[in-house]
Amino acid sequence: MLRLYNSLVRYLLALDEGTTSARAALYDETGVRIALESEPIVSSFPQPGWVEQDADAIWRAQLSVARRVLQRCRGRVAALGITNQRETTVIWDRTTGRPVAPAIVWQCRRTADRCRSLAASPYAQEITARSGLVVDAYFSATKIEWLLEHIADGRARAENGDLLFGTIDSWLLWNLTAGSVHATDFTNASRTMLMNLSSGEWDPWLLDLFGVPSALLPRIVPSSGIAGVCAAEHFGYEIPIASMAGDQQAALAGQVCFSPGLTKNTYGTGCFALMHTGGHRPLAQQGLLATRAASPRAEPQFAIEGSVFVAGAVIQWLRDQLGLLKVAAESEALARSVDDNAGVYFVPAFVGLGAPYWNGHARAAISGLTFGAGRAHIVRAALESIAYQTRELLEAMQQVSRTQISELRVDGGAAANNFLMQFQADILGCRIVRPQDIETTALGAAYLAGLAIGVWSGPEQLQQLWKPERIFEPQMSPTMREELFAGWKQAVARCQL
Ligand code: ADP
Repeated sequence: MLRLYNSLVRYLLALDEGTTSARAALYDETGVRIALESEPIVSSFPQPGWVEQDADAIWRAQLSVARRVLQRCRGRVAALGITNQRETTVIWDRTTGRPVAPAIVWQCRRTADRCRSLAASPYAQEITARSGLVVDAYFSATKIEWLLEHIADGRARAENGDLLFGTIDSWLLWNLTAGSVHATDFTNASRTMLMNLSSGEWDPWLLDLFGVPSALLPRIVPSSGIAGVCAAEHFGYEIPIASMAGDQQAALAGQVCFSPGLTKNTYGTGCFALMHTGGHRPLAQQGLLATRAASPRAEPQFAIEGSVFVAGAVIQWLRDQLGLLKVAAESEALARSVDDNAGVYFVPAFVGLGAPYWNGHARAAISGLTFGAGRAHIVRAALESIAYQTRELLEAMQQVSRTQISELRVDGGAAANNFLMQFQADILGCRIVRPQDIETTALGAAYLAGLAIGVWSGPEQLQQLWKPERIFEPQMSPTMREELFAGWKQAVARCQL
């Protein structure tokens, strides 16, 4: 009976290829994760600032974790979804299917000089207007340009159609389909700096600027839809590949943010926030980026994206450099052990200030100290700084996108801190929702795949399946909120002197 029942369940497999690990997760029709496997991915650093990975090793690791997770599946997988580290660039030989160079990882700075001169050129504005991105070495365009210049006969082979480019989603899709499909999705394409964000097509002006022949490029397909069929040789039977999305956009989907104003923030080393803006294409201003959101809808959907450079890292610093904490989680009880911040503010501008200040020269400072201030106040101020920075980022996003945040959904390591989440709700004046399953990236890939094949009817049904673990409602008075925030602003001004 059990076997019969299970054979009727449509399982979904998510392949989550991140910068440091390849993961595979299996979900049932209620969106509950029933298995997760992971393997590390190794980066190499052949020169200062360079970061490379072995694309073949990525494929092998991804295949191996997927096979392991499938051993725990008591039925058949109805579809699989792919989510991946974005921008990382692979070029391979169409005939042999093998990479012709190491993958250049998103973090790699080898094209930073090229980007600096582009950013200072009259082209910069046009690049942003077309792609939605600020010129930076993160994005794939200058990485492709570099590879075509350094691979023997690179440009000629690309023009002849002998070489193929892909971000990790395309590379996995190509291998899963045994070399029969060369495609990427709108979200990954929107991070290459080669796609026209409005039209969703490769932009001829950008291709020309970076010397990228169109024969090199994958077809751009919807993030939720059948992009190909996984060959039976990999898992014993054919599986439709029903979603592809970059990691941050997949996380947005995994938090069931499918309509304007729904926003997610990931509290890790830094913060990564994405706000859905519906069919409205936001402008890339104040250092924020405009991007595609992953969606089951036919019409284009957009999001605005921004980051806080130092979030959980400030807690790490207190632990490792000052020895104020043994473990990061201890910060919660310490922060609660005092009634307030006693006027202490910690601006963690260790690498300058991001949105909306963009001051690379600012440096971190702890201010407002009196003899009454102690370890707990400093730890509390550090946690509060994560919330203040998030408020500044989200305010910039709301301004630029002209979209109001209706609710903030959270994930990432530091989102486990209840003091931080309550303070975040208080300082934003907005409800914070922390879901039960915080593997939101993989969950998003599964959701998008399930939507594509009709396991779920739409975002409304997902909203019912998606379970909050805890909701934090704002409790602080508006007067107190603005008083504290004014104090933060003053502290930020001080560290820019
Ligand atoms: P990443 O994916 O960026 O490596 P994680 O999502 O694993 O980050 O989160 C780790 C970060 O969160 C670390 O910087 C750590 O200091 C911080 N962190 C983890 N747990 C807590 C906690 N309970 N309170 C505050 N910060 C925490």
